[in-house]
Amino acid sequence: MIVATNLEHFINLKINESALIETIQNKWTNIKVPIFIYVDTKLKKAHGLHACRNIKDYVKLPKKVSSVLMSEVLNNKDNKNHFHRISLSYDFLKMARNGRCFAKEVSDWYIKESNNMFYTYLMFLLSHELQHADQTENGTKFKIDDYPQYKNFMFSDDHKEIDAEISSILSYEEMLKFYKEINGGTFD
Ligand SMILES: [Zn+2]
Repeated sequence: MIVATNLEHFINLKINESALIETIQNKWTNIKVPIFIYVDTKLKKAHGLHACRNIKDYVKLPKKVSSVLMSEVLNNKDNKNHFHRISLSYDFLKMARNGRCFAKEVSDWYIKESNNMFYTYLMFLLSHELQHADQTENGTKFKIDDYPQYKNFMFSDDHKEIDAEISSILSYEEMLKFYKEINGGTFD
């Protein structure tokens, strides 16, 4: 699948865009519809959001969507004019990047002690939202009954949220490994 981002506007986050895109392409091979990762300065309450969008519903498309994703969205008829939009909260990303009091924000999440909190947070969050993208194409995959050890880390009874959350737990370390490898054996 093709992935575009608006990371060029957020150089202070110091994320290697091409390494991130390759990481997603390596790990999420079930997703076929193009993905737009959108760092959102207006997203204040949630850490992230997934939406499946029809390109024809837009009067004005985000620049990266029209320049990078448009022809694939329109010309590959399997996509039926859709793309996944994954929004990530700029405020939370910045807080994670600066490390200040951030552990408290995610203390209810299943995240192992890590020496790189920022990328751990990013990959955990992305795995959750990417699983929502996968759900719209392929349905849900995980049931809590198969992972009773993670019951305490579920914050919703909704089976789609549980599926996404288990996916994060099972995926984020591999995402970290891919990113580090592609980024030359280091995170920064
Ligand atoms: Zn969710």
